[in-house]
Amino acid sequence: AADVPPGAPAETAPAEVAVVGAGLVGCLTACFLARRGHAVTLYERRPDPREAGAERGRSINLAISERGLDALRRVGLDETVLKAALPMPGRMMHAADGTLSFQPYSADGRRAINSISRSALNRTLLEAVDALPGTRLRFRHRLSALDPDTGAMEFATHGGTVTAVSPVILGADGAGSAVRAQLQTRPGFDLHQEYLDYGYKELTIPARGGDFALDPGALHIWPRGRSMMIALPNPDRSFTCTLFWPHRQLTALDTPEKVTAHFAEHYPDARALIPDLAADYALNPIGHLVTVRCAPWTVRGRAAMVGLIGDAAHAIVPFYGQGANCGFEDCVELDRCLAETGDDYAAALALYESRRKVNADTIARLALDNFVEMRDKVASRAFLARKRAEHA
Ligand code: FAD
Repeated sequence: AADVPPGAPAETAPAEVAVVGAGLVGCLTACFLARRGHAVTLYERRPDPREAGAERGRSINLAISERGLDALRRVGLDETVLKAALPMPGRMMHAADGTLSFQPYSADGRRAINSISRSALNRTLLEAVDALPGTRLRFRHRLSALDPDTGAMEFATHGGTVTAVSPVILGADGAGSAVRAQLQTRPGFDLHQEYLDYGYKELTIPARGGDFALDPGALHIWPRGRSMMIALPNPDRSFTCTLFWPHRQLTALDTPEKVTAHFAEHYPDARALIPDLAADYALNPIGHLVTVRCAPWTVRGRAAMVGLIGDAAHAIVPFYGQGANCGFEDCVELDRCLAETGDDYAAALALYESRRKVNADTIARLALDNFVEMRDKVASRAFLARKRAEHA
């Protein structure tokens, strides 16, 4: 992709790839493509996170499973990422009376999902992209327009509008994808967005006396029927808690007294571990939970190809902890399709979509189902009996 400063006419670039969005999936996509010898320009609306620090309001940590690790292994990053990760071999259920019960994720208790800092993972991936020949990073570039026919793009920057042209454009710009929005105007483009009437809010359980306040070898869950809280450990020995509550419940707690009383009644053990509960609750934003299904993921224009990858193609609710893992699998599949088609992007993107769409639709359904299991069924007697029988 060729950048053109404000005012200057756009030039057509040689056969290169523009990846829009330097989040987890955009960075990993760029790694795979650069390793194939392709010239990749990565455009990101935010400042360079290596300078600016993590963005407030985005989830602080996430669980990476074998699906995601497999993708990272293929670009030689699994060990670096795992060094900073905390393995969680099971889930720890917190009953309202404070009783704890541990449910291993595997029969032998040895297989684990890994709690990883989102910002650290993003930085590792960015550094990997930066170190590869043929890559260019463009921060503070927000895609504002795209012509799928010609591959012409416009970016809003502090210095004004910057234009660029690329024969291949990959939208890795997340659930609210601007690339997808540009495809949406085309006849036949199908888009379903399904918002839950739930939101999420994060809180922090700080380290106590320099140590973890809860067992760091588990994903902690406080199932409370219609709502729930989870907590994942961080390398600094804190835990990030996420409340998944109906919107009206999140907004109903509008005074410090209401917040404190609600936690004392429903989450008494956690309440005791969150010193700044009322202030954090008031300050931290409410996130939305959306499933996005769209088709097609790839559009062939007269002189350009546009494809969607990661959340831009298939945002899912976080209850299976598989959104990023699934996006990482997209990168592996796209790389495989490029290898199978001799780097013919038109053929590779069509193949990639035909193979990945069915998987993305399936995990979207499973993630919605797992919300009911996590907030409700994991605590039920029948569920516990079934789990015991499975592991007997
Ligand atoms: P994003 O991470 O959203 O990145 C998109 C990037 O594009 C961003 O950097 C953004 O700034 C940039 N961008 C956006 N618009 C533009 C534009 N117009 N121009 C240029 N750049 C733009 N997944 C897991 O696998 N495990 C988990 O445990 C897990 N937990 C989660 C918990 C919560 C509360 C949530 C909300 C999600 C969770 N996920 C989890 C899902 C995971 O966060 C996403 O699937 C993953 O971040 C998707 O990566 P992405 O790169 O496709 O999109």
